[in-house]
Amino acid sequence: MDQIKTGQFIAGERKAKGFTQRQLAERLGISDKTVSKWERGNGFPEVSLLLPLCGELGITVNELLSGERVSGADYQKKAEENMVNLVKEAQESKKKIILSALVAAVGLVAAVPLFVIAGALEMKAWLRAVLIGIGSLVIFMDIIIACVLDRDAGAFECPECHERFVPTMSAYLMGPHTIRKRQLKCPKCGAVKYCKKVLTK
Ligand SMILES: [Zn+2]
Repeated sequence: MDQIKTGQFIAGERKAKGFTQRQLAERLGISDKTVSKWERGNGFPEVSLLLPLCGELGITVNELLSGERVSGADYQKKAEENMVNLVKEAQESKKKIILSALVAAVGLVAAVPLFVIAGALEMKAWLRAVLIGIGSLVIFMDIIIACVLDRDAGAFECPECHERFVPTMSAYLMGPHTIRKRQLKCPKCGAVKYCKKVLTK
């Protein structure tokens, strides 16, 4: 999926219909900033807006995803290409999320026995300290790797302006969070909010 191409296509079709960005946004019940963002190729309409947007512009979802008008013979082929690409993107994001959970679990499984051994067996104090040290290091690395993978999978959406962004590593690590949401500062509007995790930027 080429966001730049789709963005230019949206802009072209909007102008052909004689709408300003604000007029199109009002018809869709969203902010004109969001329309501007799509047209700059900096974000893609969320699923619930695909049909209303295509309806306003008089295009099909297939054409929106392709970023161009698609005629008869090519139509089926383009639709299938778009479908495969969407599934692929979703799978890659999901795989990273699953992978990060796996890494976290494996790390814990690897480190916990070290603590158990260090606590249960008779040994020299320095050896116990080394075991605890290694165990702590494994867990620490584990958390870092899991965070890198998780941050890398998908993006976060600002609840105020719907900007989708990938936070910096430090902002990601510092933000209080629930399973699905994380408190982050929106780079667009500056709001500090609990932002929802989304699979695509
Ligand atoms: Zn925002």
